[in-house]
Amino acid sequence: MNDKRPVWLTKRLIVDERVTTLERDLAGLRLNTVCQEACCPNQGECFSHGVATFLIMGNICTRNCRFCAVKSGTPSAPDPQEPQRLAQEVERLGLRFVVITSVTRDDLDDGGAGHFVSVISALRERCPGVGIEVLIPDFGGSESALVKVAGARPEILNHNVETIPRLYSSVRPQAEYRRSLQVLSQAGRMGLLTKSGLMVGLGETLEEVKEVMLDLLNAGCRLLTIGQYLMPSKLHHKVVEYVSPEIFDQYKDLALSMGFSAVASSPFVRSSYMADEFYSLLMAGKRSH
Ligand code: SF4
Repeated sequence: MNDKRPVWLTKRLIVDERVTTLERDLAGLRLNTVCQEACCPNQGECFSHGVATFLIMGNICTRNCRFCAVKSGTPSAPDPQEPQRLAQEVERLGLRFVVITSVTRDDLDDGGAGHFVSVISALRERCPGVGIEVLIPDFGGSESALVKVAGARPEILNHNVETIPRLYSSVRPQAEYRRSLQVLSQAGRMGLLTKSGLMVGLGETLEEVKEVMLDLLNAGCRLLTIGQYLMPSKLHHKVVEYVSPEIFDQYKDLALSMGFSAVASSPFVRSSYMADEFYSLLMAGKRSH
């Protein structure tokens, strides 16, 4: 495939004081963001609005997914002070809604579930009223780990299936499609509002995407994000196709017609992209029904 990105995938570089202030604060408080670690193309836009997705438990992942820019290796123990520093930054930013994610911590007995709970507790204490979305790893399929996180009652529990099952062995070799669906269905049964996301452009067909949508609905998931996969480096999985904005619109219409309550689908959508607006729209929709 021609490596040149199509015109709809060009983004204006944002150089703004708020971006540099946020970067400085994050470094000062030793906080990681997935925005920076995963080289998200929306970073300038989100940071200039004072929005970031926090990456907890370090920036080294125990898995090695072929699509992800986060470094793989042996991480150090989670920092028990991190939840307080994170809550301090969320308070400073005045966020109404925050997304917390983590590297996958297969080295920890609970997969890091306890640390998620500590972060949620610190946020509830220091920033009452803030909406919390946790974008969790699969915790190796541990139901007890999920029970811990569910007990802290985040507003949204997000877990991405990332791609269609046929591509798991080449895109997410240490993950399992069925296990990810199980995380979502268990979280739904625990009374949580669940959300998931897919990258497209990895070689999937429209029919395969539709099947994933159906699986997600059967797992009780009603919130969906779909965005274009972009190669973080030449060593990562190749982009097979730049999906056109019209196809993204088709995916959105299809997902809504199949029964999803809220869908964000466009080339630059990431699972945390404008998550606060996504949540507000959802709540407004609920109130008007
Ligand atoms: S889309 Fe999400 S990960 Fe990307 S910059 Fe925005 S908040 Fe960060």
